[in-house]
Amino acid sequence: MNLPLTQAVKALAQALDFHAWGIAPVTSAAYAQAYQHYLNWLKEGMQAEMHYLAETAHLRSDPRSVLPEAKSLLMVLQSYFHTRRASAPIAQYAWGDDYHTHMRRRLQIIADYLTRHGYNARPFVDTAPLLEKAWAVIAGLGWIGKNTLLLNRRLGSYTFIGGVITTAELLPDSPFTEDLCGTCQRCLDACPTQALTPYRLDARRCIAYWTIEAPSMEEGMPETQGWIFGCDICQQVCPWNRFAKPQGEIAFRPKAHVFWSQEQWASLSLPQVKKLQEKSAMRRARPKKLLQIAALSVNQTYGTKRSVPVTSVRVWK
Ligand code: SF4
Ligand code: SF4
Repeated sequence: MNLPLTQAVKALAQALDFHAWGIAPVTSAAYAQAYQHYLNWLKEGMQAEMHYLAETAHLRSDPRSVLPEAKSLLMVLQSYFHTRRASAPIAQYAWGDDYHTHMRRRLQIIADYLTRHGYNARPFVDTAPLLEKAWAVIAGLGWIGKNTLLLNRRLGSYTFIGGVITTAELLPDSPFTEDLCGTCQRCLDACPTQALTPYRLDARRCIAYWTIEAPSMEEGMPETQGWIFGCDICQQVCPWNRFAKPQGEIAFRPKAHVFWSQEQWASLSLPQVKKLQEKSAMRRARPKKLLQIAALSVNQTYGTKRSVPVTSVRVWK
């Protein structure tokens, strides 16, 4: 184990303004369990039309499919939290610049540092066949909640996850072994489409899937409850997000469309959609589909059902 290098890498993660970081070893019994959970989820067909998840499942069994000879993974979290009382029809993670670009640029600095010390290293942010949430748990960063999101005791669930896989043998952190959901099931109760059972999300019912990933709007699509891109309901109601503080990263500050009125969304044009997708995580959705969803959502329940009551939970100011 290379302790000085571990300390240096963590210091770099801190200097680069990540909000949490930890080290996982490349092999772990806990990961084998998480991978089996993933295979069972696929077997149930809960990935809907995201066929690539099944096609690349074998690669996810071992991170060395991403980097042969890898010994460790540095996992990092970056909060994108703004507020729990949002009225925008866009999930908060897509309010600012595309996190892929922003996170990757900083993770590359850490990878370059490891390379200069003679190791191979590769950064990833949703860009490699890795079960990132499971690796974050093994790196001690939190637990996977009943809403299937990674929950960090201090940051809540509004976080981006990324990391660097490396051939350096870094000193691992203790895995997070608690489940702090306890008897709570607010996310399950609040999900308007019953997409959640504890620790399992059925994408076939999920608004986020239908508004982002689904190849088309077909029979079986639930009411979007006013959402146009993604859905934050199962995060809005989670009591652990009362500990989240608005993040200060300038790249993630809300863009103008976050404050658009219902009328502005209703009169959206294709060139406007393409414009708002520039440098945004909203690029993930096809422009024409985004336009269709916008028209559908404003005619449905814009601004009514989307806001869920959070009166019993304190919100950080
Ligand atoms: S994102 Fe929305 S629809 Fe999907 S599980 Fe969460 S609350 Fe349900
Ligand atoms: S709402 Fe409750 S059950 Fe759901 S993830 Fe948060 S703490 Fe866990």
